[in-house]
Amino acid sequence: SSPDLNSSTLIIGAGTWGCSTALHLARRGYKNVTVLDPYPVPSPISAGNDINKIVEQGTPISLPFPPSPLTDNHFNTNPGSFSDGEEGASISETLLQLATEGWLTDPIFKPYYHNTGYIICAHTPDGLTQLTKREMLDQKADFEWLDTPAAFRATMPEGVLTGNFPRWKGGFKRTGAGWVFARGALVSAYKEAKRLGVTFITGAKGGVKELLIENGDVIGAVTNHGKQYRAKTTILAAGANAPQLLDMKDQLRPTAWTLAHIKMSREECKLYKDLPVLFNIESGFFMEPDAEKHELKICDEHPGYCNWTVSPSGNKESIPFAKHQIPLEAETRVRGFLKDTMPQLASRPFSFARICWCADTPDRNFLIDRHPEYPSLVLAVGGSGHGFMHITSVGGFVADTVEGKLDQRLKKAFRWRPETAVGRNWEDVQGRRGGPNKMMDFGNVKENEWTHIQERAMGPR
Ligand code: FAD
Repeated sequence: SSPDLNSSTLIIGAGTWGCSTALHLARRGYKNVTVLDPYPVPSPISAGNDINKIVEQGTPISLPFPPSPLTDNHFNTNPGSFSDGEEGASISETLLQLATEGWLTDPIFKPYYHNTGYIICAHTPDGLTQLTKREMLDQKADFEWLDTPAAFRATMPEGVLTGNFPRWKGGFKRTGAGWVFARGALVSAYKEAKRLGVTFITGAKGGVKELLIENGDVIGAVTNHGKQYRAKTTILAAGANAPQLLDMKDQLRPTAWTLAHIKMSREECKLYKDLPVLFNIESGFFMEPDAEKHELKICDEHPGYCNWTVSPSGNKESIPFAKHQIPLEAETRVRGFLKDTMPQLASRPFSFARICWCADTPDRNFLIDRHPEYPSLVLAVGGSGHGFMHITSVGGFVADTVEGKLDQRLKKAFRWRPETAVGRNWEDVQGRRGGPNKMMDFGNVKENEWTHIQERAMGPR
């Protein structure tokens, strides 16, 4: 039966997936879509409110090529996701293909994609094993193997990479991967959804306090101001904050990463233009400076930080909090990464830093499904460190779920699956490396062990 385009839909969260969902629903002709968020878009606590994110293209659908070697491997190396062998690989490939189509052809997203190429590398025996044995990177035709400091330095114009790259080895894909101007793409999706008639209620009035439950079903949400929003379908897209609103049965682990910015001169920005992404899966990554503020973003790579508390009912929970500083140990790691790659920048002060939250499912696969007990509630969560590049397409999966027509293979992979989180090992690094090679806890970072970077006004950062 054809969907009722006049039926009401409420989306909780106007972040990466909330805006993508709003856009896809609006494009399908839904006329009564409302989105709630405690901050104007781009929300300062959205993982998507960032200058850049890594994107790797999938193989265009029309070409019968074998799957791309690094399927869903951007940001945090993730050879373990979609663990169902061949079926898993083909799901990853389908996801990449659909996301890629958006970056290459959708006018709302296309301007933000930079096909600059991508270097993925490591420097310890275990890291290299991950790159070669598990990913077989050294055997993939579209990756050139880099195994000397000179080979690394030659991937960028002279004067950029001046470091010694101690024991670094890896692969360089010259085309078919790169980065996206994340905040630009997020705002673009938001503006287009709004233009197509979606109502956004953001700022203090848009913060959701709780789901509205009547007769055993979720029929909307209540804001911090006590206003009730009722809808035929409610979509929970609150990212790492989703467990604050719904018992996720341990399927989400809110985890934070750390990023720092360095101010660059105009001349440096010129030199650093159109650089490939450089990602060491055990120490960090950077992309070229942003065009607006002339800042270079560096992330130190590690398995992530949680913020553990025990709920009144005795459950262990990681609770996200916003902070525009990073632990001093993260600063040390960022500077170590710079020393190996661009020592000329290693002691330059940070102009900005923040922690950034995402939420991992146990298998790092997305969770997009109807709730088993609340039939009118749809979940759109579990970005698992690789959810940004799917902003072009993920809303389509959510809309398909609303309409009950999500592809069967995707439906299985994205299902509500508490059985996979029973007795969950919260310390699992989930395929990630770097730093101490184990999960970290903000509870162990003392107040004086954070950076003291002068805070900017809380704006669209
Ligand atoms: P978000 O974008 O965080 O959105 C959640 C929204 O919910 C926010 O707007 C927030 O304001 C809102 N919200 C919170 N509480 C409430 C409430 N009570 N009521 C209403 N709204 C609420 N992915 C990639 O593909 N490539 C990368 O290179 C990459 N790099 C990353 C680097 C870092 C440091 C991090 C942290 C993540 C990275 N990711 C990357 C992952 C990606 O950013 C996320 O998976 C994706 O942005 C998640 O989208 P989301 O919509 O679930 O969450």
